[in-house]
Amino acid sequence: MSEKIKGFCLQGSEKIYPNGEGSVTRNTAVVEMEIPALKTGEILAKTLYTGICGSDNSAALGKSNFDWVERPRIIGHEFSAEVMALGPGDHGDLKVGDIFTPLAMLGCQEEDCPACSVAKWNLCPSKQIIGFHRNGGFGQQVVLESDRVVPLMKGLTPEQGALVEPLSIIVNALHNKCNIKPGQDVVVTGCGIIGLMSAELARAAGARVAITGIAHDREVRLKKAKERGFITIEVAPENPLASQLNKGIKDAKGNAFGTHGKVDLLIECSGVPQVLSEAISVVRPEGDICVIATYPKEVEINATHLTRTSLNMRGSMGSCRADYMVAQKLMVTGVFPSEAYTNLYEFDDITTAFEDSIKANNVKAVIKMN
Ligand SMILES: [Zn+2]
Ligand SMILES: [Zn+2]
Repeated sequence: MSEKIKGFCLQGSEKIYPNGEGSVTRNTAVVEMEIPALKTGEILAKTLYTGICGSDNSAALGKSNFDWVERPRIIGHEFSAEVMALGPGDHGDLKVGDIFTPLAMLGCQEEDCPACSVAKWNLCPSKQIIGFHRNGGFGQQVVLESDRVVPLMKGLTPEQGALVEPLSIIVNALHNKCNIKPGQDVVVTGCGIIGLMSAELARAAGARVAITGIAHDREVRLKKAKERGFITIEVAPENPLASQLNKGIKDAKGNAFGTHGKVDLLIECSGVPQVLSEAISVVRPEGDICVIATYPKEVEINATHLTRTSLNMRGSMGSCRADYMVAQKLMVTGVFPSEAYTNLYEFDDITTAFEDSIKANNVKAVIKMN
């Protein structure tokens, strides 16, 4: 292998504030990569399209919830790729030329693991996340375990393949944790791609949906949400969601959204601790809160209020193979319109793509890797 293979590498862990001085991508660099020899059960693949996840941005900004990631690391866990070579061992039906997306989370697969024994690798205490525990999809080539390969469904493009993993996270959350019923009012807090995908799938399930963002989301992400027909709510510390709901929010037809300032379900995708603290005051008694985000510090919750309103607060972590299959179907059938949310970049512009993502100047950056 003589050609030079490049990858986008997480190197530093300096805390970077996006509105501060200097480049927001100074913890990262494009580097030349060495491809290691394949071990038993591993394959080599050429990456096709790789998406930038909020967690990639958080790691690049040195946020403390990603301190555990070893540096240097070629990041990237949302991608499509084509099999180039099979290493030693049994790879089932997999063959050179197959196009797939990997399961981001690989479980230990031990018989006595409480998560792996029920095929929920996403909940395995020793799960390995591609792009964080080992080099991932921001390399132009990637070595990975064939156990984590999910062949792309017929009708799905490799570009859409990069969106399967994030969409599968929403599928898991909505199928298993949200209990949405037609006619319900749902607030999604945070308008990154996870928030926007949640809004789409909540609406597809029959809910009326509002989505929140902050001032820096106004020009791109909240605008996109509005274009897609969602109620948009710009929040600020001095103008939080609860008080805006109490004052009254109307949908496009002028009908009141929520009842007495409360909604049926809140899906938390912002990762901002105060937003989750506030969430329990905007959901009706016996309503639901689903937490998809993670947080850079502990979050204060008024537990007495939680008890007295009999709220259901549930976390939802990652996704597993079954969720990937549903996510693919949602794109093949057009229930989730991936083209409305994708911003494509060439590999040469990968640093710009990260800067744009960190500064909320795009919706979902997807890099054409080769
Ligand atoms: Zn992700
Ligand atoms: Zn396990």
